[in-house]
Amino acid sequence: MVHIVGAGCGAPDLITLRGKKYLENADVIIYAGSLVNPELLSFAKSGCEIYDSAKMTLEEILSVVCEAEKNDKTTVRLHTGDPSLYGAIGEQIREFDRRGIRYDITPGVSSFSGAAAALNTEYTLPDVSQTVIITRASGNTSVPESENLVSLAKHRATMVLFLSAGLLDKVTNDLIEGGYPPSTPAAIVYKATWPDEKVFRCTLETLRKTAQENGISKTALITVGGFLTSDFTRSHLYDPDFSTEFREAKK
Ligand code: SAH
Repeated sequence: MVHIVGAGCGAPDLITLRGKKYLENADVIIYAGSLVNPELLSFAKSGCEIYDSAKMTLEEILSVVCEAEKNDKTTVRLHTGDPSLYGAIGEQIREFDRRGIRYDITPGVSSFSGAAAALNTEYTLPDVSQTVIITRASGNTSVPESENLVSLAKHRATMVLFLSAGLLDKVTNDLIEGGYPPSTPAAIVYKATWPDEKVFRCTLETLRKTAQENGISKTALITVGGFLTSDFTRSHLYDPDFSTEFREAKK
């Protein structure tokens, strides 16, 4: 059995209780060494075989998993943040399915959640934006043309860009061309929830300069949108004049 586990985006105590239990019981751990906090490996039992997938190909990962399966061992495939986002688990799952290898998935705290926490903010402010677009600039992995940044920018929604901190010229140009005003608030969150977390607030127009001045080109999220201002209306959820499923309005 393979447990695909979300490690969380940095701080080791952000792993779920379930993920920790699987780590403690694993015979084999394959972790994404580029971004998973190595402190999490201290949960491994003694004798656990540990592999860093940053140095492996898909074929090598599969060969470790198949060997473990043959010997009735339990493997944890530890991915950074939440495994469902930019983790390349799709291609692993396809191979597990082909080989009849059983697996399950334990979610994790994605860096986009870690970034909102670092920014002390809410992505979905009433009357500002009720939509979060999670995307990336086209890089080593291309983005389908129908999802190009110019077209996504038309919504002026809250936008969170992964894997794009080194492509900010293009990001800025595309987002402005698409419809965000150049003065739209933006923020760079570097290593959210790690001890060396850094937050840089700027505008869309000054994104590239801000990244450059602070030496940020990776392990960062770019966030853009009105949610970074304090100008919004309050919700109905806690409004005394509103009834909800759980509470009568105070007349
Ligand atoms: N599955 C992961 C994303 C993996 S892709 C998740 O859910 O967070 C790797 C990219 O995620 C990085 O290039 C960076 O853009 C972002 N990232 C991962 N961890 C981060 C962190 N702690 N702070 C900021 N960005 C992070």
